[in-house]
Amino acid sequence: MSEKDAKGWEDSHEQIRDARVLDRSFKDPVEWIGRMDINQHDFPYASGLIAGSFHEWYKKEAALSFTESWKWCVFDYAGKWLTDSGGASEPDSPLWEQIAAVSLQTARDCTLQIEENGVETAYFAMPVGTRSNGEIFALLGCAMPAEQFAKGGRNAAEAMAKHFSTCFYRQFEYIFVTDLVSVHIHEERESSRRSLLFQIVQRMYDSIDVDDVLTEVIASISAMYPGAELTLYMSQDHRSAHPQVKPLPLRWNKDDVCGKAFKSGRVAQRTPNEDHQLLEIGLPLGGKQGVYGVFHLVIRVPAHQAMDNMDMSFLSMVASTAGTAFENAKLYERSNQLIRELRMSNGLTERLNQSLQLGETFEAAFEGLLEIFEADYCCILHYSEDKGGLEAVQCNHPSLRNKIIEAGRGIGGQVYSLGEQVILTEYDGSGTRSKLMDFTESQSLIATPLSVGGEVRGAIMLTHRRPHYFSYDNFRLLQALAGQVGLAVGNALLHAEVHRLANKDSLTGLHARHYLDQSIKEMQTCDFCGTLIVVDIDHFKSVNDTYGHQKGDQILKQVSNILRASIRQGDLAARWGGEELALYLPQLNAEQAYIVAERIRQRVQEETSPTVTVSCGIADWNWTDNDRLSSDSLFYRADMALYEAKNNGRNKVVIGPKI
Ligand code: GH3
Ligand code: MG
Ligand code: MG
Repeated sequence: MSEKDAKGWEDSHEQIRDARVLDRSFKDPVEWIGRMDINQHDFPYASGLIAGSFHEWYKKEAALSFTESWKWCVFDYAGKWLTDSGGASEPDSPLWEQIAAVSLQTARDCTLQIEENGVETAYFAMPVGTRSNGEIFALLGCAMPAEQFAKGGRNAAEAMAKHFSTCFYRQFEYIFVTDLVSVHIHEERESSRRSLLFQIVQRMYDSIDVDDVLTEVIASISAMYPGAELTLYMSQDHRSAHPQVKPLPLRWNKDDVCGKAFKSGRVAQRTPNEDHQLLEIGLPLGGKQGVYGVFHLVIRVPAHQAMDNMDMSFLSMVASTAGTAFENAKLYERSNQLIRELRMSNGLTERLNQSLQLGETFEAAFEGLLEIFEADYCCILHYSEDKGGLEAVQCNHPSLRNKIIEAGRGIGGQVYSLGEQVILTEYDGSGTRSKLMDFTESQSLIATPLSVGGEVRGAIMLTHRRPHYFSYDNFRLLQALAGQVGLAVGNALLHAEVHRLANKDSLTGLHARHYLDQSIKEMQTCDFCGTLIVVDIDHFKSVNDTYGHQKGDQILKQVSNILRASIRQGDLAARWGGEELALYLPQLNAEQAYIVAERIRQRVQEETSPTVTVSCGIADWNWTDNDRLSSDSLFYRADMALYEAKNNGRNKVVIGPKI
C-alpha cells in the first residue's frame, strides 16, 4: 500500500468512526451501507474503505500462483479508478476508465480485448453490490491474457470477486467493533474523570489553607497530564513558596494564552503548528470576586492537534472548582488575618496606654511595631521645634538614634512633608536614596506619616533586609496602627502640656510655688549647694490704690520679666504668692546670689513703669548643713532676710542668717 493510500485509509477509518459516534441510532453496518446514497457522494470516505479492503482482499484471496500474471484494480461507486494490485495511484491503461463506465452504466461485467506487445489481453470490470439491495458500491477490474480468460480465467476471477464484498463487509464490521470499543473506552475515561474530579473537589474543599488548595490543584492536573509542563501564574498579592507558582507577568504578548485566559476569565488554547509543536492551554483560576491567577499547561503533541473537548471541559471544571476553593480558603485566611490584626491592634493599644510619658509612648510603639511586623528595623521620627527638624526618637540602628533629619530629606522627611505613605519592595534600583536603608542594608520598607489630631507630626518607618518582605496587607495595617500611635502621642503631648500648665503661673508665666518647692527638694538630693532669693515689691498696695489693680498686674509682669531675663538656664523663677516672687539658683552660695539680686533690684528701679522698687531676702544651703534637706528652713530664712530689708527702708538686698 502506498503512503498516500495508507493515509486515505486511516482518514476514512477515522471519518467513519466519527460519523458512527455522531449517529447513535445506527445499529447495523449493512443497514447503514444500504441507507447510504453512494451515487450522491454522501459517503466520500467510502473510497478509502474500498481501497483498503481491496488491498486486504488481494493479499489474501487474489495473489494465487496461477493468477500471478493477472493485474487487478478497483474503482469506487462512481467508476473512479482508486488503486491497483501494485499499489499504483494512476491507472496503467486508459482502457480502465472506459470499461468501468460501461460496467457501471449497464450494471454488468464489461470486457474489452486488445493486443498488447503481441499478446491478446482481456480487460474486464465487475460491479460489486451491497447485500441487501445489490446497489453497486465498487467495481473490480482484472486484466489477464485473453487465452486464460477464455479458458476459465473469467469464471475464476468472478468467483474471486465475490470474496471482495465479504472482505469489505469484514473491514466494515471491524470498524464497527473498533468504534464500539472506542465508545466504551471513551465512556470509561469519562467516568474515571468524573470520579477523579469528585476526589479533587473533595480534597480541595477539605483544605482551608490557600497554599494547600494550590498544591492540590497543581498535583491533580500534573497527575492527569504527566508529560505536561504546568505553571501557575498568580497576581502580585498572592505569594507562594510552591516552585510551580510564579508571579503573573505585567505584560502579555498578543497571542499569549495566559493573557487571554486571565483577561477573559475563560479557557484559552493555542494549537501547535509545524514550527511550534506545543499545545498551550491557559486556565483562569477565578471565583465570584475575580480572577486570581492563570494555569499555563504546555503539552507536546503532533501539529494542529487541539485538545479533546472532553479534556477541555474537564480542565475547566477543575480550574473553576480550584478557583472557588481558593476563594473560600482566601476568605478564611482573610478573616483569620483580620482577627490577628485586631488582636495586635489591641495589644499595641494596651502597650501604648501604659504610660502617658511621650518617651515611653514612643518606646512602646517602637517595640510593638517591630514585633507585629517582624521587621528588622524600626525608626520613629518626631518633629521637634526646639531642634528644628525631625528627631529619630526611636531607632534600633545606633547611628541614627536621636539624629535630626531635615523635613523633606530622605524617605522619612518626604513622608513627613508630603503626608503620604510609602512602600518599597526592592530598594536597590528603586532610584530612591535613604540613609536608613543604606545603614541598615534593607531592601523592603513600609512608611507612614504619624498624625496627631489631624496634623502630621512625624513618620514611622519599618524595614527588612529581604526584598518583597512586606505585603500590601502589612502596608494597610501599619496605616491603621499609626493612627493608634498618633492618638497615644497626642495624649502624651496633651498630658505634658497639662503638666506644664499646672506648674506655671498664668499671670506672670513663672513657675508655680509648688513646682519650685518640688524642684528645690529634688536638687537638694544631688547638688552641693543652692540659694533662694525672695523678691517683694515695695508698697505695692499703694501702687494698686494709685493706678488700679490692672496696672498693678502689669507691673507684676514687668518685674517677673526682669527676673526671668536676669537668670541662667537651670535657674528657676517662680511666683511665691501675691506680689512676692522667688528665684532659686542651684550651685550658688548667698554671696554669689547677692550679685544677681542686686542687679535685679537695680533693673526693677530703672526699667519698671510706673517705677516700683523691690526688696530681696537671700538664704542659702550647702551639703554640710545638718538639715540641708529641709526646704522649709530655706524659705523661712529667706523670708526673715526680706523682713529685715523691708525694715531697713526697702529697695534693699539682705542675706539671711546661716544655719
Ligand atoms: P511692703 O511689701 O512694701 O511692706 O508693702 P505692700 O503694700 O506691698 O504690702 P503687702 O506686701 O502686705 O501688700 C501686698 C499687696 O499686693 C496687697 C495686694 O493688694 C497686692 N497684690 C497681691 N497680689 C496681687 C496681684 O496679683 N495683683 C495686684 N494688682 N496686686 C496684688
Ligand atoms: Mg510688698
Ligand atoms: Mg508682700
